[in-house]
Amino acid sequence: MILVRLIYASRLQKDCTVGDLNAILDASRKNNPRLGISGILCYTTEFFLQWLEGPRGEVNTLYNLVVQDPRHRGCVILDYTEVQTRQFESWGMAFISAKGIDRKIWSRYMHGEKMDPYELTHENASVFLVEAAKAQKDTWGGKIKAD
Ligand code: FAD
Repeated sequence: MILVRLIYASRLQKDCTVGDLNAILDASRKNNPRLGISGILCYTTEFFLQWLEGPRGEVNTLYNLVVQDPRHRGCVILDYTEVQTRQFESWGMAFISAKGIDRKIWSRYMHGEKMDPYELTHENASVFLVEAAKAQKDTWGGKIKAD
């Protein structure tokens, strides 16, 4: 079986509520294990950065469903790579918030005042997410909270 990692960035729709965001996490945690997909969702008040890993066909199908979701727009694939092992095994969808990411971490990979995942190169997208995720391991199973 060919395993792939797909990382994309998108923008939240302006009317997206915390309830909508938690519904996304709930649906991901319900559906992904059945599809053999694991990953992490990084959320800011403006952007999503999501890492999906699993069998190539399942990841491609899920991504094609997710891009049509009206709760976000402007999906751009930053990285699509065949992998030998998983980074987030046993996490149907781990979660981290940009609020918890030390500025020193994201300013190594992005310029400017705000964390903007569209600035990430394909190499930096995976390195950044692994580094940011490691620093917030205690939130992986959590939910999105109102700001
Ligand atoms: P359901 O169990 O039917 O829905 C779950 C909840 O989401 C319900 O409360 C429902 O009201 C609400 N909901 C569903 N669709 C919409 C919609 N279009 N607009 C508003 N509310 C809605 N799905 C995954 O399975 N795995 C993922 O990893 C994943 N990642 C996502 C990442 C992002 C950034 C976004 C925006 C969506 C993601 N989704 C993911 C959701 C995906 O787009 C589909 O909505 C979901 O897969 C539908 O699954 P379901 O039918 O089991 O959901």
